[in-house]
Amino acid sequence: MAQQPESFQLDHTKVKAPYVRFIDTERGPHGDVISNYDLRLVQPNENAIPTAGLHTIEHMLAVLLRARIPGYIDCSPFGCRTGFHLLTWGEHDTAQVALALKESLAFIAHEATWDDVPATTVQSCGNYRDHSLFSAKQWAQDILTQGISSDPFSRRVV
Ligand SMILES: [Zn+2]
Repeated sequence: MAQQPESFQLDHTKVKAPYVRFIDTERGPHGDVISNYDLRLVQPNENAIPTAGLHTIEHMLAVLLRARIPGYIDCSPFGCRTGFHLLTWGEHDTAQVALALKESLAFIAHEATWDDVPATTVQSCGNYRDHSLFSAKQWAQDILTQGISSDPFSRRVV
């Protein structure tokens, strides 16, 4: 069988969400380093963020995390809807990433209005009808109440 992503080897029953987990780095032909992180917002196989709320969180993190993490490349949702992959140039401490995520979710939960959600038109989104800032805010609040850990297996809340 072809080589599998590291995430497929993770025992999802052992983790304690919400957390930020460093997955690995890849080095390009010119020596540039790209890091991959697991931003797990809800507990696997116990919860899943509904698509409209997750979709709105995705659009907002694309702006909010980009502004807070140097070398930000991309943040894309897992198909299981429990969190996101974050890709960055270079390497970052998981506590720094967790803090940036905490600030971003706090903005979504407490400050954001519909005007703060980017790309919600038929021209700029592939499923513009499927957004919910209400859901995004409620889930962001729940995640912040539980706290975001910089370690996936023991709670080190930032
Ligand atoms: Zn979209």
